[in-house]
Amino acid sequence: MTNGTGEGMRQGIEAIIFDLDGTVYLGEAALPGAAEAIAELRRQGKRTLFVSNKPVEPRAVYAAKLTRLGIPTREEEVITSAYVLGRHLAQTAPHLRLYVVGEASLRAELRGHGLSVREVLTEQNPQEVIDPVGIDAVVVALDRTLDYRKLNTAYQALKAGAAFFATNPDSTCPMPGGDIPDAGATIAFLEHLTGRRVELLAGKPSPLTVEVAMAELQVEPFRCLMVGDRLETDIRMGQEAGMVTAVVLTGVSSRSDALRADQPPDWIVENLLELAGKISGGD
Ligand SMILES: [Mg+2]
Repeated sequence: MTNGTGEGMRQGIEAIIFDLDGTVYLGEAALPGAAEAIAELRRQGKRTLFVSNKPVEPRAVYAAKLTRLGIPTREEEVITSAYVLGRHLAQTAPHLRLYVVGEASLRAELRGHGLSVREVLTEQNPQEVIDPVGIDAVVVALDRTLDYRKLNTAYQALKAGAAFFATNPDSTCPMPGGDIPDAGATIAFLEHLTGRRVELLAGKPSPLTVEVAMAELQVEPFRCLMVGDRLETDIRMGQEAGMVTAVVLTGVSSRSDALRADQPPDWIVENLLELAGKISGGD
């Protein structure tokens, strides 16, 4: 494992975890060569899993999008931060009453795991704040419907002692046309207000995501390659879990970012075709 491009490491890879945005696609378009590269890797028998920190669509929607972009994918091959959080809470704390600073899809995902999600009565009274006594945990996520009432409800609940969870730590989320504020910005707002720190993060680089990915792939982390465009989430998660890592330069990280990192990824590739070539035995 010491030789970053060694034969042993390449042959030992049984499964590949791909980030989505900036790695496989950007907006509504597959990145050049992504579909061909993934098809080739699957032909070689590599199992594939796609991991997104975005909690705003169900897994089936991402699977359908990948399929539409020429990468046939089943729902079970996609995990999102919402799915990881729902699965984790259902296993460890199924009775918590949750208040979600997030979108409808996240509330549906959490309910799908049998969890209890409180709703706010919006039409009747826009100032309405749920009684914080009825909230055991606040869940913070990307929310394009975020407003003062939601922030205040979360604040009151946290002040009253509710647990502080979030789907993912990203400050911004890449979107076609430019990035937008993400969960990290709302976490910072609530941390500033309460003097507390978020207690549980589900998405990358959390070990909770690794746990779910390994359960889906049925493989040891060192037999796994983590591919992504973000050093501080994708690559860090892979490295902390003992995976082989590859940064792809089609998203947020540049070659100099990757080379300057305290612990550079094992591979730096321009695109997924170059990665497929390396795994197939090229240099
Ligand atoms: Mg990405």
